Amino acid sequence: MANRKSKIATGFLIFFVLAGLFLFFNIPSKRPNIILITMDALRADHLGCYGYPRNTSPNIDKFAKEATVFLNCFSTGSETPSSFVGLFTGRYLGLRGGYLLLANILDKKFTTLAEYCKDMGYFTAAFVTSPLLKIRKGFGQGFDYYYYLENGNIKEINKNLSEFLGFYKRRKPFFIWIHCMESHVPYSSDEEYFKIFRNDNLYRKNDKILDLNGNVVYKPFKSRGYIPQAAFSEGRYNLNYYIASYDAAIRYADFYIGELLKEIKDDNTMILLTADHGESLGEHNVYFHHGENIYDEVLRVPLIIKDNGYFKGGARISTAISSVDIVPTILSRINPAWYFFNKNKFDGRDLEGAATGQKDIKRDYIYSYSPSAKSIRDINKNIKYILNEDGKEEMYLLPDEYTNHIDDKSPEAIHAKKELRRSMKRWLKDYPVYADINAKEIIFNERDKEKLRALGYLR
Ligand SMILES: [Zn+2]
Repeated sequence: MANRKSKIATGFLIFFVLAGLFLFFNIPSKRPNIILITMDALRADHLGCYGYPRNTSPNIDKFAKEATVFLNCFSTGSETPSSFVGLFTGRYLGLRGGYLLLANILDKKFTTLAEYCKDMGYFTAAFVTSPLLKIRKGFGQGFDYYYYLENGNIKEINKNLSEFLGFYKRRKPFFIWIHCMESHVPYSSDEEYFKIFRNDNLYRKNDKILDLNGNVVYKPFKSRGYIPQAAFSEGRYNLNYYIASYDAAIRYADFYIGELLKEIKDDNTMILLTADHGESLGEHNVYFHHGENIYDEVLRVPLIIKDNGYFKGGARISTAISSVDIVPTILSRINPAWYFFNKNKFDGRDLEGAATGQKDIKRDYIYSYSPSAKSIRDINKNIKYILNEDGKEEMYLLPDEYTNHIDDKSPEAIHAKKELRRSMKRWLKDYPVYADINAKEIIFNERDKEKLRALGYLR
């Protein structure tokens, strides 16, 4: 009798321990598929769901209603390489000794999101159209299938993705990365999309002339006061024309993203939509470009996450976060036990904490990196400190990034400057270097070069 009682007690004990472990690790019944959509140079504030007055994104807005919208997500870099290294590793990585143009580079010793997913039994596929991402190296590490769509646009991505989904839907869980270029210069779209915004109220209101001399220049990463050649449309010198083109390109991409989202009817799919960085549309005297400074117009990106049962539909989160949080968020979802024991590998945090307020994502700083400058954002005090390559310092009380407070004599300003300088110094001393500046292994053919020229990367 006593023996039977103790067996029952042991049984209960085992049940409760297992149930406890289950709840503790929040083990999902079925691992979700993951789809990560990144749109190049897409500013958050040009999407309807982020408050933009033009109807640039009806499909993304509809998607956002069923998803959690992070209102203040900042990219880890202000151009493609420095932002993707953070987005794909969950770590703040830097580059020393200069800038390596035209390269998808990331030292093999770093593990990417695709590699983590692959190790966890996922089938991994990438659909990219940027020639910078042509080679399956760098942040392309870890993909089973890597589709670089030459001369491709989002329409072509959809076609390929559709075939892919038809084939892989019922197989092991997949991780798919889609990167589209519509919102990058030359802001291309169909005429029907451009017509929507040309001559609307915003178009007429904003009649500022860009450059009375009509200067157009080729200067990669220097477009201060000029229209970069890659963006230039013959005879056009009005800011409103280019902003309407940018918005039309977003609307064009939005249509195909809508089509793409219709394809994914499976509820067990976590979908994330974001951008690698933003775009300067005249702010700080920089036109239709990114990467040459580190102000919020090039750092603030959309981040919208839909994941049935995990990220609440309709939630809008204002906590300042970083795209370095994307990898931890995905990994903690697909393998909570693994993430629990490995979270220290990442600088980013699991965003479900920010979305539910249940887990602690407390932190003081968010870092960003560009070839020309580095920045620290104190998210509690809302102060941003910038250290430029030439050693020049700037300090701003956000959201104003025009009044430099670096020489303020108030005790608060002096204290803030001291703290931020110290943190910047510590970060610069410790951050791992993501690539060897001398590694020039990428070979482009004539067609690639032509496309790179069109995007403003080559003369
Ligand atoms: Zn980019």
